[in-house]
Amino acid sequence: MYTTGQKPGKGQYQCTKCGEIVVLDDDTDTLPPCPRCNNTTYNKVG
Ligand SMILES: [Zn+2]
Repeated sequence: MYTTGQKPGKGQYQCTKCGEIVVLDDDTDTLPPCPRCNNTTYNKVG
């Protein structure tokens, strides 16, 4: 599991609460709070 503030690298991360997909397109990007529900935990999708 990944949380807001981490830099887990390129990929798609799915909010564990609402299913929203957040895309990080650079290894230096930081996971934001979920744009839909403000949740802070994600699972990696791809
Ligand atoms: Zn969410």
